[in-house]
Amino acid sequence: AFRVRGVRHSFGQTEALRGIDLDVGRGEVLAVTGPSGSGKSTLLHVMAGVFPPDEGSIEYEGADITGLDEAERSDLRLRSFGFVFQFGQLLSDLSAIDNVTIPLLLAGWRRKSALVKARDALEELDVADHRDKRPGELSGGQAQRVAVARALVTEPAALFADEPTGSLDTLAAEKTMDSLLDLVRSRGTTMVIVTHDPRIASYADREAIVRDGAVSFGGGVGNAEGVGNVG
Ligand code: ATP
Ligand code: MG
Repeated sequence: AFRVRGVRHSFGQTEALRGIDLDVGRGEVLAVTGPSGSGKSTLLHVMAGVFPPDEGSIEYEGADITGLDEAERSDLRLRSFGFVFQFGQLLSDLSAIDNVTIPLLLAGWRRKSALVKARDALEELDVADHRDKRPGELSGGQAQRVAVARALVTEPAALFADEPTGSLDTLAAEKTMDSLLDLVRSRGTTMVIVTHDPRIASYADREAIVRDGAVSFGGGVGNAEGVGNVG
């Protein structure tokens, strides 16, 4: 699904990515680990077309996305990608279900069918009973499940998750992760997930370790040789 070659990116004097080569197969679940400040979130952002890297190329499904302009990248994100972050980032003035309809409305769905689809997504994440609550009235775990429902409601081909359960206790995190992984595996969604949790990393097909803006691969069972490495 993704082919990353020679990607470098700096913020001012900080070299966040220093030559990343990485391949992610379609339907693969890739865990991204590594110390704080090593470049994990930056890597996700450039792969997802949030912003283009300074140097190098990123192909998605065979097409170079590094040359796209902002409108084209935004369109690609809406059509093909879903996002979950550490803190749910739900809109606080909207109910749970209205939050989940947003990506559908942006993708051109009519409100009525979007509400039906959003309700199904909330049900899959086991939070349909809380659909009329605002984020402030949900527990942390419930809010995160709503955020996962929102990320998956458009059935994206690829999901980017940046410490999606980082703010939750172990039980809530496991429950959310299990639902997320079930959905992703059953749909064949490609997933790149930043995590500090070894249990989550062990569920992944491969583990990419980011250190000082470069990537190496962990020794898990699924770590096929020759698929990406430090450039
Ligand atoms: P963490 O585990 O703490 O989330 P990370 O591996 O995700 O860390 P990044 O957020 O990718 O790390 O940051 C990589 C480096 O780039 C850090 O040194 C960080 O300070 C810097 N950086 C990231 N975003 C910006 C920004 N918008 N402006 C300036 N510097 C940034
Ligand atoms: Mg980060």
